[in-house]
Amino acid sequence: MHDSYELQQETASEAEVYDAIILGAGVSGLVAASVLLRQDNERIAVVDEYPHIGGNHIDWSANGFTFDVGSLIFQDDSPLLKHFPELLEHYIHIKPTWGRLNPQGKVTRCPISIADDILGAGPLEICRIAFSVIHSRIWRRNLRNARDFAAFWIGAYLLKRSGLENYMARFYGMPPEHIDLELAEKRMMWIKEHSSLRSLMRKLTQKKPPHMQNKQLARPKAGYAALYEPAKRGLAENGVTFRLGTSIAKVMKGEDHFIVIPTEGRQIASRRMISTVPINIAHRLCGLSQEKPLKTITLISLYFSFAGERGFAQSILYNFSYEAAWKRLTIYSDFYGKTDGREYFAVEVVSNDTITSIDLAEAEFRAHLARNNIFKGDLKLEGGQILENAYPIYTHGAPAEAASQIERLKQFGIESFGRHGAFNYQPTARVSTLEAERALGYHHPEPANTAAPREQHDKRIEFIPCGSG
Ligand SMILES: Cc1cc2nc3c(=O)[nH]c(=O)nc-3n(C[C@H](O)[C@H](O)[C@H](O)COP(=O)(O)OP(=O)(O)OC[C@H]3O[C@@H](n4cnc5c(N)ncnc54)[C@H](O)[C@@H]3O)c2cc1C
Repeated sequence: MHDSYELQQETASEAEVYDAIILGAGVSGLVAASVLLRQDNERIAVVDEYPHIGGNHIDWSANGFTFDVGSLIFQDDSPLLKHFPELLEHYIHIKPTWGRLNPQGKVTRCPISIADDILGAGPLEICRIAFSVIHSRIWRRNLRNARDFAAFWIGAYLLKRSGLENYMARFYGMPPEHIDLELAEKRMMWIKEHSSLRSLMRKLTQKKPPHMQNKQLARPKAGYAALYEPAKRGLAENGVTFRLGTSIAKVMKGEDHFIVIPTEGRQIASRRMISTVPINIAHRLCGLSQEKPLKTITLISLYFSFAGERGFAQSILYNFSYEAAWKRLTIYSDFYGKTDGREYFAVEVVSNDTITSIDLAEAEFRAHLARNNIFKGDLKLEGGQILENAYPIYTHGAPAEAASQIERLKQFGIESFGRHGAFNYQPTARVSTLEAERALGYHHPEPANTAAPREQHDKRIEFIPCGSG
């Protein structure tokens, strides 16, 4: 072990000493552990308050039904598999399809259907849509927020008519005009991609969506523990110690080392500290003042089983209607098979000022269903979960505020990255993996002549038509 000897002397009686401590055992924390091992660190501690690894990849099972928090789909060409190839055999292969409930009450293509949203609207509406797009492309040059960005590409009229504006408000937890342009430019490129002339022409001439080059995967029916346990074992065999289910009281800084003080159990110490937990939490643990806490989405998941007539064929349905807080539902029985003849699905509801509990979210969802015949039959709530800090909210100025708070952590000596650690809406495990590698300055050794161009490789996931996460 390199220079941890002196530190060991100083703290020997109270703390276990490591080459590095990583806060958070989600994808970012696990990739960080894998990278640090490859960078010749020998003893690494990964600390998480959850009793499991995988972070917000969370499943919930009861009575033979099995659900996820969110709609989690992975790919067989994910860079995560370069770190943990042992995962691949545990995923199941799925063939998901995506649709959206539009404001006119029809289940149609995502994010825009030429047939239903434009041609089916009638000659007068077509003229209005065309005029609005031309107007936007010519006059809407000064883009200030996420709404301006979307309106530039599809026109303000279609933005409203298609329900995309309402979906964006649901997704962000606030109206898109309050959302920083930076998020739209970074994470909503699918709007641009779907509304470019080339893409529109392709849609007009093509009946089926383009063939995906990579395979879509979901966790095994037995849950994320069955998926991630082999990765955890591999890391542990190579020097990673997991302190899971550990509540951290505080993080203290000595002259040149950190000490993590848990509410129970032994302290741990290291010269290097990496954080993938929310920035607000990292500040609190380190006793750093924070004038403006960063806002995050609280996600309510409703888990239903169902027997009856389902009014759509797609496995994933987005809510683009003008009403209700639910944003997406995923039919898990399409992936894992029915249980006792019943289908089952999870509904994601973004918590807001009025929808603050599972009961309220369920009542509103059921009232919305009653107005849109998408489930006719017996619908039973099997359970629900509330996830705080599901993803960051980019209000105006939030990216700059986050950057300054990350800098503050850096000055304190902490490297902060990941979905929460960088306050960066990382839509997929693929993106989290690449960003953790980048933050640690790691490049995989590429075999000569076999490397695919990176942009092409990274684009494949973007096929998920209304974004992910
Ligand atoms: C609803 C949803 C849907 C998604 N859909 C997809 C998808 O379809 N495909 C895909 O590839 N990815 C999807 N993702 C996103 C993707 O998986 C993320 O990019 C990735 O999980 C981010 O990993 P992370 O480690 O940065 O953060 P997280 O997974 O959030 O991990 C952060 C960890 O920090 C821990 N932590 C927090 N506070 C403390 C504390 N005080 N002390 C100790 N530990 C703490 C948490 O317990 C957690 O384990 C989705 C994510 C969500 C939430």
